[in-house]
Amino acid sequence: MIEGPSDVDARAAQDAWAMRLALDQALNAQLAGEVPVGAVLVRQVDGVPQVVATGYNRPVTTSDPTAHAEIVALRHAAQMLENYRLPDCVLYVTLEPCAMCAMAMMHARLERVVFGAADPKTGAAGSVLNLFAQPQLNHQTAIEGGLMADACGRLLREFFQRRRAEQKEARLSVPTPSPASSALPDEGTPTTTGPRGTPEGGIPAGEATEGGEWPLPTI
Ligand SMILES: [Zn+2]
Repeated sequence: MIEGPSDVDARAAQDAWAMRLALDQALNAQLAGEVPVGAVLVRQVDGVPQVVATGYNRPVTTSDPTAHAEIVALRHAAQMLENYRLPDCVLYVTLEPCAMCAMAMMHARLERVVFGAADPKTGAAGSVLNLFAQPQLNHQTAIEGGLMADACGRLLREFFQRRRAEQKEARLSVPTPSPASSALPDEGTPTTTGPRGTPEGGIPAGEATEGGEWPLPTI
């Protein structure tokens, strides 16, 4: 179908509105102490976009490694609509989906996926691999990235900056070990390779993971 200008405008307006809602969900994750990633599922009802379900990242608080924002939203939507296929839904997520979420989106037969910031560590929509561009897979889901990438990425960067500061403070507040225990590893044992470059508008490599991997593995 060829879209006229009004269709394009309407879609852009829906995308911006929905991504702002996804950002709100990411803040919910942050309030819960989780890595701030949020997702929203939208579908058109009588020509009007409606939110079907929302989700935010919460694997730590629910002890569930699959509880990424997208999976949470997909589960809610499928249960609500009583259908494991969601072919007329668009999913908005603040961070590039990982491989698990990408495949779940394809199983759900989503119409389209829109993400905000790229994830150089686990992104499966072009950053690490691109599951959305595999001709061997029997279903293709349209994917678009970079919508409000700065706002989405800023949330993550600031979250991890705060975490680093808190961890540093916690380390400094630990009483100095007595000479007898000096054989124990101390803060001289590096857990990371030191400051990494933070590309403008991007996420520091290795940090933008919904699973909240922390401390970071040494690169
Ligand atoms: Zn994921």
